[in-house]
Amino acid sequence: MSSPRRVLLATQVLTLDPANTIFAPGAVVLDGNTIGSVGPVPEQPEGEIVDLRGSILLPGLVNTHTHTPMWVFRGLTEDVPRGEWLTGRLLPLERRLGPEDLRMAALAGCLELLQNGVTTIADRYGHMDAVATSVEASGLRAVVGHSLFDRTGEADLARTERLIDRFGTDPARSRVWAGVAPHATDTCGPDLLRRVRRLSDRTGARVFIHLAQSEEEVGAVVARGASGCAAYLDGLGLLAPDVVVAHATYLSDAEADLVGHRRTAVAHCPSSNAKIEGRVAPIARLRRAGAVVGLGTDAACCNNGMDLFEEMKIAGLLNKVASDDPAALPAIDALRAATSEAARALGIDHLVGSLEPGKRADVTAVRMGGPRLMPWHDPIANLVYAARGSDVTAVFVDGRLLARDGQPLCLDSERILADGAQAARRLGDAHD
Ligand SMILES: [Zn+2]
Repeated sequence: MSSPRRVLLATQVLTLDPANTIFAPGAVVLDGNTIGSVGPVPEQPEGEIVDLRGSILLPGLVNTHTHTPMWVFRGLTEDVPRGEWLTGRLLPLERRLGPEDLRMAALAGCLELLQNGVTTIADRYGHMDAVATSVEASGLRAVVGHSLFDRTGEADLARTERLIDRFGTDPARSRVWAGVAPHATDTCGPDLLRRVRRLSDRTGARVFIHLAQSEEEVGAVVARGASGCAAYLDGLGLLAPDVVVAHATYLSDAEADLVGHRRTAVAHCPSSNAKIEGRVAPIARLRRAGAVVGLGTDAACCNNGMDLFEEMKIAGLLNKVASDDPAALPAIDALRAATSEAARALGIDHLVGSLEPGKRADVTAVRMGGPRLMPWHDPIANLVYAARGSDVTAVFVDGRLLARDGQPLCLDSERILADGAQAARRLGDAHD
């Protein structure tokens, strides 16, 4: 599929290449779905000019952990005592919805992500065949995984195989591709996880699993005879560079070191962990030990919005508090955790995560003006600590301009929100 050559003109271009090169002013040339060049503004630009002066261009944001259909539960699981959120509050709500509700809710979730400047997501949930239809229609780049549980293992494995048949597992070949997504260490026994490892080895699919997200999960795994959730996964060959573990909240020091030594990827969801568990994952230790850490928004009902700008700031703040060190997790590290490191966590850093020639044309533009964003002394600090998703002025995925000034260009937002609201009405009496 070819689209015209576009020349994006901007006040600043933050490449996030290895040298942290910034062009001010700068231009990014998009050749179809690929970045042709990045640099100073050419004297005679060739191609369609997209005037984004007044904005900074950065690599499209990469969200390493989300559940787009859970958009529909926002506001229904608030301030719940520790240990009750998942089984006590969420599961009864989930039982009320069918695949068509989830398909509609997922599209609304994708719309929210897109408007906040997210261009790539790792999405996982039940009924992923229906959900993936929305994800694909949204225009986002995405890896999709159908959640596997012991109690429905055979059917879940069959659905996962169908997802792999439909989308493949190679992010270089398809904008949407499939992963293998066992739910968590307590809900997936050794037999299922051995089959997951074999399926991943056979197909090349990356594995996505929740790890140590609650004390209940740790208790269940220890009751099974393992010393902890991470040791349990390690014994099954599932601490590895092709595995993305979400949360990693309740890890001992030794387990955090083990996750890191195996070069496992970690999806860090700081606001979700804070709101649901009142905890901060041991990110500093995980990174020191070698883990690749990317940021995730988790679901809209966890935190209560899918905005990676918020997550960058909250990650910075919580990790400073957890480390008792205001210099911990500096702004550039938080920004890379939502771009280049997040891409590395998903195994797609050869395709996205920085603005460099040859990579896919995924670009997010953010306004530089207004009282909240001026002065603009330090672009990285402003993006991490001052900007919000609502400051995004343009979003390109695969060279397609998908949103401009907060408005989607390829999606009918009124219809999507009306459909999402209809699905939400099925939950309206949830408090009765
Ligand atoms: Zn999750």
